[in-house]
Amino acid sequence: MLSCKEVVKRSSDYVDGNLGFWGRVSYKFHLFMCVHCRRYIRHFTLAIGVSRECAESHLPEEQASAISKRARDQVR
Ligand SMILES: [Zn+2]
Repeated sequence: MLSCKEVVKRSSDYVDGNLGFWGRVSYKFHLFMCVHCRRYIRHFTLAIGVSRECAESHLPEEQASAISKRARDQVR
């Protein structure tokens, strides 16, 4: 089973769908077993969504990156 550290390290690949079949299976298995990583990946996914929406929004660049940074900092 993956360690929590490995789950955090691979979170971007998981969200972007770059893990491959067995990588994804072992990742999901860890999420099934570990409430902490489930919570982490939920917040991580949310932060990624906020970042992407800011990038696609019509907000001024400075404001969009400040919101995006704040969302990412919430996860850490
Ligand atoms: Zn874990």
